[in-house]
Amino acid sequence: MSSRWAERISQALGLRLAAWYLGTFLASTLVIGGLTYGLLASLLESRDHDIIQSTLREYATRYQAGGLPALARAIEIEQRSGTREPLFVRLVGPFQDVLLYSLPEAWGVFDVPASPRGASDIWAQVRARDSHAVLEVASIRVGDSVLQVGKTSEARNQLLANFRRVLVLGAGAALLIGVAGGLLLTRSTLKPLRDLRDAVSRILQTGQTDDRVPVYGTDDAVDELSQLFNAMLARITTLIHGMRNALDHVAHDLRTPMTRLRVTAEAALATNDPAKHREALSDCLEESDRVLSMLTTLMDISEAETGTMTLNLSPMSLTAVAGEVRDLYEDAAEAAGVVFTVTVPPDLVVTADRDRLRQAMANLVDNAIKYTPAGGRVDLEAAATTSGAEIRVRDTGPGIPEHDLPRIFDRLYRGDQSRATRGLGLGLSLVRAYVEAQGGRVTVDSAPGRGAEFRIRLGT
Ligand code: ADP
Repeated sequence: MSSRWAERISQALGLRLAAWYLGTFLASTLVIGGLTYGLLASLLESRDHDIIQSTLREYATRYQAGGLPALARAIEIEQRSGTREPLFVRLVGPFQDVLLYSLPEAWGVFDVPASPRGASDIWAQVRARDSHAVLEVASIRVGDSVLQVGKTSEARNQLLANFRRVLVLGAGAALLIGVAGGLLLTRSTLKPLRDLRDAVSRILQTGQTDDRVPVYGTDDAVDELSQLFNAMLARITTLIHGMRNALDHVAHDLRTPMTRLRVTAEAALATNDPAKHREALSDCLEESDRVLSMLTTLMDISEAETGTMTLNLSPMSLTAVAGEVRDLYEDAAEAAGVVFTVTVPPDLVVTADRDRLRQAMANLVDNAIKYTPAGGRVDLEAAATTSGAEIRVRDTGPGIPEHDLPRIFDRLYRGDQSRATRGLGLGLSLVRAYVEAQGGRVTVDSAPGRGAEFRIRLGT
C-alpha cells in the first residue's frame, strides 16, 4: 500500500470520526435546547392562562357580590396600586352593550368577539389589528352578562424570542466546540495508527526490523495493537538474527573440515598406492560424517533458539527417561573406568519434550564421562522442587577453569584442555537451547580440580 493511499484512508477515517463526533455533539445540544424551549413555552402559556382564569373568577365573584360599581372600583384600585398586571377586562350586557371596558393602551386594538351564548370559560385568541400581538381571552357568564378577561402573548413571545436568540448563539458555540473537539479527538485517536503506519513504511523502506512503534500505555485496543506489533517485530528480529548467526557459524566452521577433506583428497590423488586411496576415502567419509553431524546440530540449536522448533510438550516420567540414559551410558562408563550412578525418585513427572530432554541429559552425561579420568565417578540425580524438578549431573573430573565458564555454552566453543578429546563444541549449546526452548534453565557449578555439576531446572 503506497503511503499516499494510507494517507488518504487515514484522512477519510479522520473525517468520518470528526463528523460523527460533531454530529452527535450538535444533535444532543439541539435536542436539549429544543426540549428546554418547548418546556419553557408551555410553562409560560399555562402561567398566563392561570392568571387570566383566576382573575376572571375573582372579578366574577366581585361582580356578583357588588355589581358593576364594585367591579369597576376594584379594577381601578388595582390599576392605580399596580398590585395586578394590566389585563383586558370587558363586561358585555344582555343586549351586547359594553358595560365595562379596560385595555392597556400599549397593547393595540383588538376586535374581541362577544362570547358565545350559554358558554362559560370559553377561550378565544384575537390577533391585533395593527400588530402581530395575540390577545388570549377567557369568558364567563355572570347572570345575564358576559365577563371577559384577557392578556396579550406579547411579553411571553418576547421572552421566547430572547430564549431562541440564546439558543442560536449556544448552537453556534456548540458547532465551534464540536468542530474543534472533533478535530482534536480525531488527531489523538488516530495518532497511534499514524505511528504504526509510519513504522511499517520505515521498515519497508529500510528493512530495519529493530524499529518500534511508540506505546502510550492507555491499555486500549489500539495500544494493544502497537504492543502486539512490537512483539511481532521483536520475534522477527530474533528469527533473522538467529538465521544470520547460524549461517555465519556454519560458513566459518565448515571451512576447517572442508579444507581437511580437500587436502586428504588431494594427497590421495597425488599417489598411485591403492592402500593410500582406501585410507583417504575412509578419512573423507569420517570427515563428511562430522560435517553432517555438525550441520544437523547447528540447525537444531538454531531452531530451538529461535522458537521455530516444534516441541512435543507433555507430562512424562523423568524416572523412565533417566533409566534410558543409564542404559545408554552404562557400558561407556564402565569402559572408561568411571562409576556411573543414577538416582531418581520413582514416579517423578515433568512437562517436557521427551526426546529433547533425553538428548540434553545424555549430552551432560556424555561430557561428564568423557572428561572424568578413570577411577572417578559420575552421578545423575533428579529431585522434585516446588515448581517442578531439578536434574543434576555431577562428576569428579578436572572441573572447568574460571575463564571458560562464561563461554562453555557458546556454539563451537571448546575448552583449551579439551582439544585432545573428541567433540564439536556443540554439546552444551544444544543442551541450553533444548532446555530453554522448554521453559527450563541450565546452570553450572565448577572449579578446577573440584569436578563439575550441571543443573537443569524444569517446570511440572
Ligand atoms: P565438547 O565437549 O564437544 O567440547 P561441549 O559444548 O559439550 O563441547 O562443551 C564445551 C566445553 O565445556 C568443553 O570443550 C569443555 O571444555 C567444557 N566441559 C563441558 N563439560 C565438562 C565437564 N563435565 N568437565 C569439564 N569440562 C567440561
